[in-house]
Amino acid sequence: MSSDPYENLSISTGAVAQPNTSLVNKTGSWRQFRPVIDADACIGCGQCDTYCPDQAAKQVDDQLYGIDLDYCKGCGICAEECPTDAIEMIREDS
Ligand code: SF4
Ligand code: SF4
Repeated sequence: MSSDPYENLSISTGAVAQPNTSLVNKTGSWRQFRPVIDADACIGCGQCDTYCPDQAAKQVDDQLYGIDLDYCKGCGICAEECPTDAIEMIREDS
């Protein structure tokens, strides 16, 4: 597969034409809110990783979690599911 699986396809924006192509869908470009994790409040439970639809919440250290903003679309599910309210959604323009 080429590095861009959509290269030779004529498809509508947002359509999924092939499996295993999520890495080329950088959803972070249209995010309006971004999650910010309070490292002091994070207990490393991984709920944000479990529930994130874009697998943008990742373990970055033994216990801490971080957000890959290239793939985070700002849906806020991680903040809703975080048991310690460690994630705050911040407007991108603030
Ligand atoms: S859900 Fe909250 S407490 Fe759990 S790993 Fe993610 S940020 Fe940390
Ligand atoms: S805001 Fe949504 S896409 Fe971004 S890390 Fe949280 S759950 Fe994933």
